[in-house]
Amino acid sequence: MDNKNDDPNVPEKTIFSVIAQGDLTEFKNILAQHKGSVDFLDENGMTALQHAAYKGCKDMVQLLLDRGADVNCGNHEYNYTALHFGALSGNSEVCKLLLDAGSKPNSTNSVGRTAAQMAAFVGNHHTVATINNFIPRTEISYFSTPQGQQTEPYLPALLVEPLHKFVLGVNIHPVRLALNLQHASCLLDNAEKVSKVLEMLCKKEMTRGSETNEVMAFKYHYLAYILKEISNIRDKQKPISESEKKHDIVEIFTKKLLKPGKDGYSLDLMDAFLKDCVREFPYRECTTFHQMVTSLTSKAPPPAFSVINCTINGQRGFIDTVPYCSTCGEETPAKKCSKCKTVQYCDRECQRLHWFVHKKACNRESNVQAPNAKVNIDPSELTAELQNLVAG
Ligand SMILES: [Zn+2]
Ligand SMILES: [Zn+2]
Repeated sequence: MDNKNDDPNVPEKTIFSVIAQGDLTEFKNILAQHKGSVDFLDENGMTALQHAAYKGCKDMVQLLLDRGADVNCGNHEYNYTALHFGALSGNSEVCKLLLDAGSKPNSTNSVGRTAAQMAAFVGNHHTVATINNFIPRTEISYFSTPQGQQTEPYLPALLVEPLHKFVLGVNIHPVRLALNLQHASCLLDNAEKVSKVLEMLCKKEMTRGSETNEVMAFKYHYLAYILKEISNIRDKQKPISESEKKHDIVEIFTKKLLKPGKDGYSLDLMDAFLKDCVREFPYRECTTFHQMVTSLTSKAPPPAFSVINCTINGQRGFIDTVPYCSTCGEETPAKKCSKCKTVQYCDRECQRLHWFVHKKACNRESNVQAPNAKVNIDPSELTAELQNLVAG
């Protein structure tokens, strides 16, 4: 704007205050008026991107990145990066954007803490997991160009994006992964290639010398294992009717995993399935493998899924009141069973998949108003149980 030309700092100051107010519309207007680099600093050495990250505003972060904001810029007195601020905001999507744009997850602030550590410190567990699970897209796209003598790459280029998304997922519940694969059916159609790439990624993580990442290696192995299982189920489901087929795979898999054991609630089949997965991890000398086996073979072993989830996503604080989807373990699901209101689900699909387990308990709950809820599988209780074991 013409009237602002005499003092170029006015719009910059305004940008900071508009971010603080969280006014996206005004922010867009002001940003459009601002010419030149957006990496200017406020009096504390913070960039606009850092302010937007701290505000946890995904749209503002995206707009600034589109304008070429440097994720590693800034001169904050305690050496906070934009990722530190995003981690404090607890907005995992903001952190993902910053990581995608090249934020370094290992940068530490003046007290030696990484962004993930700061997120853990303030209890933003989903953000911790998002940062720890992050891998750059190039890790995957590497396999989409032919190597050495190859005429064809290991991974068709079309699969880079869906596989990257699949790997970054924080919810690693097998049913959630099955649902994700159902939505990204191209991965399932190329299950053999994709699982081979996952195995190569696993190996790569284990052979990085001082930068070896056992946890990520295990995650790749785990994802490949689940993918192969679902692909096997699909292969066995030879043509029935084209339209039914897609749903059946997840349903068969879910019925296999969520069928309660003799006591009515423990998931014996899921446990056996996941223990096999741990057992098949090829790097048996590593600490991560030993820790999992020690835990799984202890006197009162926690559920195998808890062990795997803690390994990959980290230990949570013990105040864990977040509700979970009874089918796929997704946090803070949107829906409740309308009949008994004691179990929660992401959506109709999750409810449908769980009905074979829940119907008995549901009828009982809604007929007799007795708080006899133990029959329901509540993953948050499993986690609590694990916490007791860890504490004890
Ligand atoms: Zn769900
Ligand atoms: Zn119910």
